[in-house]
This record gives sequence, C-alpha cells and structure tokens, in this order.
Amino acid sequence: MTIHRLPQTVAMRIAAGEVVERPISVVKELMENSLDAGSSRISVSVIQGGRLSIVVEDDGCGIPREDLPLAVESHATSKISSIEDLDAIATLGYRGEALASVAAVSRLDIRSRTNQEDRGAWLRMEGGSSPEVDEQNCRVGTRVQVDDLFFNLPARRKFLKSARAELRRITKVVQEFSVAYPSVAFILNSDGKKIYETQGARDRVDVLKGLWGDEPEILTSSGARGPYSVILWWQRISKVSRVSVMAFVNGRRVEDGTIRAAISSGETHPGGNWVVWVETPPDEVDVNVHPAKTEVLFRHGGDLFAAVRDGATSMKGRSLPDWESRPLLRTGSPAGTYVPKYAPKGESLFRGVDPFPSPSGSGDDTRPRTFKFSSAPAEESSPLPVREQISDPVEVDEGPHISYLGQLNSGYLVFDDGGDMVLMDPHAAHERINFERIKKRCSSGYGTQNLATPVHLPPTMASEVDHMEARLASVGFVFSVGDGETLLEGIPDVPGCSSVSPVDMLRTTVAALSENTDTGEIMWLKWATLACKASVKLTWKLSREEAVALWRDLICCETPSACPHGRPAVLRLSSDKMASHFERS
Ligand code: ADP
Ligand code: MG
Repeated sequence: MTIHRLPQTVAMRIAAGEVVERPISVVKELMENSLDAGSSRISVSVIQGGRLSIVVEDDGCGIPREDLPLAVESHATSKISSIEDLDAIATLGYRGEALASVAAVSRLDIRSRTNQEDRGAWLRMEGGSSPEVDEQNCRVGTRVQVDDLFFNLPARRKFLKSARAELRRITKVVQEFSVAYPSVAFILNSDGKKIYETQGARDRVDVLKGLWGDEPEILTSSGARGPYSVILWWQRISKVSRVSVMAFVNGRRVEDGTIRAAISSGETHPGGNWVVWVETPPDEVDVNVHPAKTEVLFRHGGDLFAAVRDGATSMKGRSLPDWESRPLLRTGSPAGTYVPKYAPKGESLFRGVDPFPSPSGSGDDTRPRTFKFSSAPAEESSPLPVREQISDPVEVDEGPHISYLGQLNSGYLVFDDGGDMVLMDPHAAHERINFERIKKRCSSGYGTQNLATPVHLPPTMASEVDHMEARLASVGFVFSVGDGETLLEGIPDVPGCSSVSPVDMLRTTVAALSENTDTGEIMWLKWATLACKASVKLTWKLSREEAVALWRDLICCETPSACPHGRPAVLRLSSDKMASHFERS
C-alpha cells in the first residue's frame, strides 16, 4: 500500500482516543473547563455511567458566541498563547484538545452565555462533523452534553466497562474535585438520582467528613520545605493497614510515589485516609508529562519528600482522643449471644496457672506486698456461690465456692476460690472471652444483627462497599440503596463487638476483605481484634455483677489462663503457698 494522508476526520478520531479513554476522561476534562471558567457551582449528570450521556453544567464565565466554534477546534485555547506560558501553567487545561477530541467521538451539544451577552449560543456536532451554531436563550455559564460516546469507534466502545464500574470512577473524580475545591458546590446525578453533593463555601474538613465520615477525628498539619508548602489531613484508622492518599499539586489531582513514600516513611503506622495538598510556584512542577494522566515531575523532589514526611510525622506523634464508648459487660446473656454451657469437667478453676511465676522460680520477689480493696465492703463480699450472683444459670461443675472480694486500686479483680486467692486482669480476661466466643460463633457461619436505625454510609465507603457487596453479605452485612444513598441495615452478629460502631466494623471488614481472598480464615481474627479494643480496660471500676460475669465466662474458655496475645489473665496464690509463706504448714 502506498503512503497516503489519512482524511482529517479519521486522524481526529484516532487522536481523540488518546485524550478521551472513557466516560471519566470526558467528565474530568469538562469539570476542569468549568473550574478554569471560575464557576461556583458545577453539576454533573450521567446516564448509564456516562455511556449514554454526560452533562456538565456550570455558572462560570461562559464562551462568547463568536468563539464557540473555535472552542471545539483542535489546539484552540484561551488559556496559553506562547511557549513561555507552558513553563507556568496556572489553569487546569491548556492543550486546547479536550472539546475537539470529545466532539470527534460523540454527539456533542454546547450551550453557553457570557454575562455580557443577552442571549447565548448553541453548538451541535456529531462525530467531528462541522459544527452547527445558532443563537439560544440560556443562563450565564456553560452546559456541555456528550451523548453516545464512541458511537463511531465501535472497537473503543467495546472496551467500556459496565455502567456501574464507569459510574464508580466518575463518582471518585467528582469527589476528588470537591475536596480540592471546597468553595465550589458539586452535584452528581446518576440516572436521574442525586448521588453526591457538596454545598460550596465550606471548609475542606467538612467535605472530608462528608466523604469519610465524622469518626475518627481528622487531624491536620502543615509545613514548608524549599519551594513547597504542604498541608496534610489524616483520618487515622488504627485497625486498617491500607494507606489511601489523595494528593493535589496546585489544585491538580496527582498520583505521586514521592508523596506516598513520604507518608509511609515514619515509624508509626500510617493507616487510614490522607489528603496531601501541595502548593508551589508553577515552574517548580511539570504537569506536561503525560496527556490525560495524573503524573507530574517535581524539580526538587527531595524537598517535597521532606515536607510531607515532616508533616506526617508531626501528626503521628499526636495522641488521639479515645472516641470509643465504654462497652457494657452483660451479666445476663441476651438472646442470640453465645452462652457458655459448661465448665471444664473435673478441673478446678485456672488450676494450671503458676502462682507468682518468676524467671528464678522462687516466686518470692514478685509477691504483692500490700492489698488495698477499693469498692467492695466486707458484708457485700461475703462468700456466695457464683451461681447465685448471675442472672442466667450456668452449669458450673461441683467444686469449691467462689466469692468476689473486690477490685484493687490498680484495677485487678480479687476472688477467693476455695481458700486460694485469684487475681484477674479484667482486660486480658475479657479479651480471651471475646476471642473464643467470636471463634466459635464464626466457625458455625455468620449471622446478622439488624440495626435499629440504619446508618448512612459516607460516600467513599459506599463505593467500596459497592464492589464487594456479595462478599460483605456473605459475612452478615445487609445494605439497602435508596435515593442514591447506601444504608447499612445489618452487621455481623459478633459477640464482644456491641460497642464497636457499625461503620467501624464495616471499615475493618472491607479492609480485611480487600487485603485477603480467603474470607473465612481472616474474618473472625479481624473481628477479634476489634473486640480486643472494645474490651474493658484495667482502669475501669467494675461492678460486682460484671466481675462475676467475667469469672463465669472465663472459666468456660478453652484457654482461660491468658489473653489471645499470651499475657496472663489470672494469678493464683494457693492456700498451700500461703500456709508455707506464713510458716503454718
Ligand atoms: P483547554 O481547556 O485546554 O483550553 P478545551 O478544549 O478543554 O481546551 O477548551 C477549549 C476552550 O473552550 C477553553 O480554552 C475555553 O476558552 C473554552 N471553554 C471550554 N469549556 C468552557 C467552560 N465550561 N466555560 C468557559 N469556557 C470554556
Ligand atoms: Mg480543557
């Protein structure tokens, strides 16, 4: 075949494919144009994830009627005019290619009006045909409608993902813009329903709370190094190892390994959601690396690394508020909770536990010297069999009577077990109890606990949930979708997690499922970790009923002597040991 020039329309279509890959590229380009036009409100509406139709409408400066045909010409832009301008790009667009590319591969309709014009203009193009232009009554601002993307490039159209997958990407990009431009109001409608909205003129932290949820608290810090000013926001999620970073440089969303590495470079665990906002003179950063991609080049990458690392480190050092509420230790077992049915037969309680263990084996050095009982007066702690103090009967093997004596100021619980004295660490004991209950419960399948009030999920979570809904449902989560919002209606029925917030439980589960493919093995361990955090603390003053319930439940554990991490849960001082100590034997 001889060499020949491709017809202009074919060449345009091929070139357009480089700029416009899928619906999200169209949405991103159109929103960038709206932001460059100084808009304070941008609404995006898509049908079928943008495969059928995308409309982006703004209240920006508009395009003068005589310029409208130019706007859809290749390499026509109002944003730069000389090669020098390329070194200091202050707008999001500058190539003058987006509208021309979109026009080449779709049916395009633009209506626009500047505030100097009484009437606006209307332009229509189909697959790169020459534009039809007319006058049109419209509001100040611009409305761009892109229908049937790739209708004339069937090979490309085949590569589009499902409407759901395309919508997920679009939602993410709209959310990212809303974080970058908190003073602009954004609305996203999908198939006629509003699925995301910000109000504009608001604090960035408010936008982040809307996306991530109110809890845990969002921390912030700022700093500067060389030409880079950096502000960081971090929602620290201690149980989640995933570090999710949204980075912006001069208002442009970027993916950058330096920023990510700097966040993770500290010694502490950086898990959770991050926003990194970098401002720098435009000539310090080259955004012209890859068309339609988000990579950038920094002239002084070392300074940027140091600025982000220092900011992140200063936040990691901060202690976080204890936002978890105190769990209620139940003395009665509500329906549906695992009730221990028997104590190990013929075994005295914690018999295997070494009294006063010490490396030398002498035991004397670790002996407690003084005892101070805090709350239980002598009459109250008169010996009572355990079974009389609890509301639901447990078949405890015949054996010595137990009595609860009280709680030391240091938090340990003191019991008399047939003349032996047993000290219990309530936290370790509670951890052990929860651990074994969760293991047992999960080994027989996953149940659901319906929430009295369904919980609205923050948008970032809703989209994560969306693509692993089946797996989440298989472990007990129940969702419903109404008015474009995802509601959490039920959570796995996990013992020991009643004080864990449903969103927190979901977040931990989503993180666990996205890091692992084997659902069964990982789930109960993750939940057990959650339950550990929610276990009673050594410093809490416990009621007699709570203390007795701990005893009762601990004796039903397979390994009552230690918490799941191996720390001892109980310490026994036998009557023999006492007798020998007091030289009575
Ligand atoms: P670029 O953004 O790189 O300049 P585009 O093809 O995206 O190229 O847009 C071409 C021109 O059309 C822009 O330079 C701008 O003058 C005008 N334009 C496009 N969209 C809008 C809008 N929403 N509001 C005002 N002007 C717009
Ligand atoms: Mg543009």
